[in-house]
Amino acid sequence: MTETSTSSGGRPSLPMEGVPQPRREDVLNLPRVHFSTHPVMAHKMTALRDKNTQSPEFYRLVKEIGALLAYEATANLALEPCPIETPMGPMIGERLAGGIGVTPILRAGLGLAEGFRQVIPDVQIWHLGLRRDEQTLQAMEYYNQLPHKVDLQVCYAVDPMLATGGSAIDAINVLKRRGIPRLCYVGIIAAPYGLLKLSQTHPDIDIYIAALDESLNNVGYILPGLGDAGDRQFGTF
Ligand code: URA
Repeated sequence: MTETSTSSGGRPSLPMEGVPQPRREDVLNLPRVHFSTHPVMAHKMTALRDKNTQSPEFYRLVKEIGALLAYEATANLALEPCPIETPMGPMIGERLAGGIGVTPILRAGLGLAEGFRQVIPDVQIWHLGLRRDEQTLQAMEYYNQLPHKVDLQVCYAVDPMLATGGSAIDAINVLKRRGIPRLCYVGIIAAPYGLLKLSQTHPDIDIYIAALDESLNNVGYILPGLGDAGDRQFGTF
């Protein structure tokens, strides 16, 4: 994906330095990519991005945005008939058909997973730890708590920042090996570079994003972005 070696002057080069990046316009119409257009989302995003927003408020906003994204990303889930009795008599209701999984990519994905849980309390949470190497920006798996038994109709890999796309691509690879019939990726902010990579590598998944930003800086942070989503959620600066 990206290379880290030395620049021509012998100085260590930064991982995204000189790497061509697509523009926003290039990725606006990718198949199966959904951008939130809800005004409440836009309002919450501004508070989230603001550098003066402190960790407790930031974490609360990530959960709320996660709940809004969950609502959008689950709009086409399959239902099955469910006979019940109301106080007035019998009726055939509906319930979600099959298990629903959420895979937070640790640690920044934890707040988004909580937002999903607020919308669908009985989701299974499949934790997956992927750390990004600061030099190469490659994702490395360090924690995998996925169950052996797979009984899901769909699983959502969640991570707030889709930057270079490395962790997202690896997470979907891990989930594909589990044979889950339908996979989706849910993030808060995407850079065109990572979004294009994820969409091209996994054209068979749906991708839900709250906002599409301009670009990555030389070390792979999203601009204008919001800084480090993990540090801001958990107060580790
Ligand atoms: N991860 C973050 O937390 N922020 C970025 O801008 C990129 C990756």
